[in-house]
Amino acid sequence: MLKRILVTGGAGFLGSHLCDRLVTAGHDVICVDNLFTSQKANIVHLLKQPNFEFIRHDVTHPLFIEVDEIFNLACPAAPGHYQYNPIKTIKTSVMGAINMLGLAKRVRAKIFHASTSEVYGDPHVHPQPETYWGHVNPIGPRACYDEGKRAAETLFFDYHRQNKVNIRVVRIFNTYGPRMHPYDGRVVSNFIRQAIAGEPITIYGDGSQTRSFCYVDDLVDGFLRMMDAPDDCSGPVNLGNPTEFTIRELAEQVVELSGSSSTIVRERPLPQDDPKQRQPDISRAKSLLEWEPTVPLREGLRRTIDWFRSIDIENYRPPTPNY
Ligand code: NAD
Ligand code: UDP
Repeated sequence: MLKRILVTGGAGFLGSHLCDRLVTAGHDVICVDNLFTSQKANIVHLLKQPNFEFIRHDVTHPLFIEVDEIFNLACPAAPGHYQYNPIKTIKTSVMGAINMLGLAKRVRAKIFHASTSEVYGDPHVHPQPETYWGHVNPIGPRACYDEGKRAAETLFFDYHRQNKVNIRVVRIFNTYGPRMHPYDGRVVSNFIRQAIAGEPITIYGDGSQTRSFCYVDDLVDGFLRMMDAPDDCSGPVNLGNPTEFTIRELAEQVVELSGSSSTIVRERPLPQDDPKQRQPDISRAKSLLEWEPTVPLREGLRRTIDWFRSIDIENYRPPTPNY
């Protein structure tokens, strides 16, 4: 059945891929974004589609609209972006969640929330199952994001218990692919941009910290399965690729696949509260959604490197102040 679907953060990296899939499926898609960490370039190809609409709006303000489903993705996601204006980041998570949950309650829409592996902080349990409550520093530089996302999860489950709102909460682990902002400071975008430019690849710390990288197409499949899952499937559900790599291994693969002459350098110590290891336990996604990633890191990196080579990097800029 065709639906009216709101995607907040729809012009961002993940949001634009999600909009692509929903528009192709024929849904009436409304993309809401304040373009803080993204640009219209991500959705320009959709603007001429009759079933796509873009609204420049900040989710910290209420929105009145009639929709059947909401995907709530609006929030800066890269550490450099979310630490740029930390107060705004936590406002976006918390007030954005309240506004979108209020909207869902009013129009009886089903609402999906993009939470994060950061709710586990620098984890003491490895790999991380959804039952782990996490190890988060509530006053550190990552707290605006981590605690904002944790509070948003609380709001989602309270609206569900108190107001019977139909919710879907997923915890996303590091995801990469075309349309990542080249200056977002995330590890994949940094390494690929540096490799293409022949600049040194900047490892923070000794590069032994780990992450598990999921290709964007796999992740968006997981989003759609979660939204369409049975009504008792509120989550949270981890979505990510369980194959774990050290950051040094990632650097080596990017250099090799891009045929770069870049050297790998230890640029600075590990940032404060930087998680030392991260790997999703995706048993729940496998059993509830019959979902698991299919794109191996090498293949995903190839596609992402091709995209980075195809763009004019001059068109991208760091985020503008947003107070
Ligand atoms: P992104 O920065 O590309 O996208 C976020 C979008 O939200 C941007 O288009 C930005 O302009 C918009 N936005 C920010 N503040 C807003 C506001 N106040 N009002 C309206 N729009 C606003 O990042 P992404 O990687 O696409 O992340 C999307 C979502 O997924 C985020 O909620 C993020 O926390 C979550 N997530 C992503 C990852 C990942 O690895 N990519 C991992 C965990 C969680
Ligand atoms: N990192 C790095 N070099 C970079 C950017 C990031 O070594 O140029 C490291 C960072 O310290 C972290 C990991 O790569 O250990 C992943 O960082 P990212 O910002 O992509 O995401 P996070 O998972 O920390 O939110």
